[in-house]
Amino acid sequence: MNIHEYQAAEILQQYGIPINAGIVCDSADAAADAAQKIGGKVVIKAQVHSGGRGKAGGVKLAEGPDDARKVASEILGIDISGHIVNMVLVAPAVDIQREVYLGAVIDRDGRGVTVMASAEGGVDIEEVARDTPEKIHTETAHPHLGLRDYQCRRLAFKLGLEGKQVGGFAKIAKAVFKAFTEKDAGLCEINPLIINGDGEWQAIDSKITIDDNALYRQKAAEELRDLREENEIEVQARAHGISFVKLDGNIGCMVNGAGLSMATMDAVKFQGGEPANFLDVGGGASADQVTLALNLVLAEPDVKAVLINIFGGITRCDVVAQGLLEAMGKIDVKVPFVIRLIGTNQAEGQKLLADAGITVVERMDEAAKQVVAAAEGAA
Ligand code: GDP
Ligand code: MN
Repeated sequence: MNIHEYQAAEILQQYGIPINAGIVCDSADAAADAAQKIGGKVVIKAQVHSGGRGKAGGVKLAEGPDDARKVASEILGIDISGHIVNMVLVAPAVDIQREVYLGAVIDRDGRGVTVMASAEGGVDIEEVARDTPEKIHTETAHPHLGLRDYQCRRLAFKLGLEGKQVGGFAKIAKAVFKAFTEKDAGLCEINPLIINGDGEWQAIDSKITIDDNALYRQKAAEELRDLREENEIEVQARAHGISFVKLDGNIGCMVNGAGLSMATMDAVKFQGGEPANFLDVGGGASADQVTLALNLVLAEPDVKAVLINIFGGITRCDVVAQGLLEAMGKIDVKVPFVIRLIGTNQAEGQKLLADAGITVVERMDEAAKQVVAAAEGAA
């Protein structure tokens, strides 16, 4: 789950990280008031679940309240990578002597948390990671021992830090690790972490994502959710207990079971197709659940064909077939679809569909091949 910069900043502040705190505003007038309250030069920043705001014109400086009103009205409403700006953060503008990058992610191979730092902090870190990855320095922290002092120093020296900057950096790096672990983050980063005009460390931009699988114990995080930023179909699916992830292809997939869903996507890709989504309709798929799932798959205008792949384990194929027929009676399915239905009571299930004029494919590779051809024919 993604959260906004200002929310991430509030979390990191609780861990003692010096943050350039600000005021969140949803109108140009509110931004002017905020600038008045803060006094002096301010920076106005789009609050959207997307990086690269600076390059997209979503981060600008303003001289005072009137300028802040003008700048905020320019930023509010713009589209940054498909996200409309509904809010801006107004914060005191700071002098930047130096910008570095600091972040933490899960390291599956190292069975720990990778803490990354780079002297090339700022808006081009993606290019640095791609073109000169050796400029990003890493330390793997043991999940229980945490990020050790020597690891912080090693990172600090690689950044070319000296004197009291080293200790200050170590404190912040440890706080990032602690926040990452305690908040069940998938990513926790500060970019840029800066040395300001007074020679002090300050976090200018914070980003945290929370592991969806940890939300059951991160109750406070759920309050930070901004539905305006999320894919509408994913939101609907979650409300009904269906696992749905939107993807970029044109073949809708409706499958029961997460493992079979992944195998289905592999099969589609193997035949040269691109899945439009991951969808696990769940174990005991009722007719209602199937109707809803089918609606979700078809809601995406890019979908050119649908593959329904159901394995009857605990759920019986005849019950699923009944559900499918009911669902299709309710929905006007305009795109071609391919059904694979096997498992418990498969003969009964297949007969029900056959009586309704629907042929069932038994082999998975054959089903994938047919749906890819159908999508190509329809495209
Ligand atoms: P991002 O583009 O989404 O990563 O947004 P950031 O919040 O990181 O802002 C982009 C860039 O704007 C930063 O890397 C800084 O160089 C610059 N910036 C942000 N706040 C200030 C500020 O208060 N003063 C100055 N001089 N530059 C700032
Ligand atoms: Mn940034």
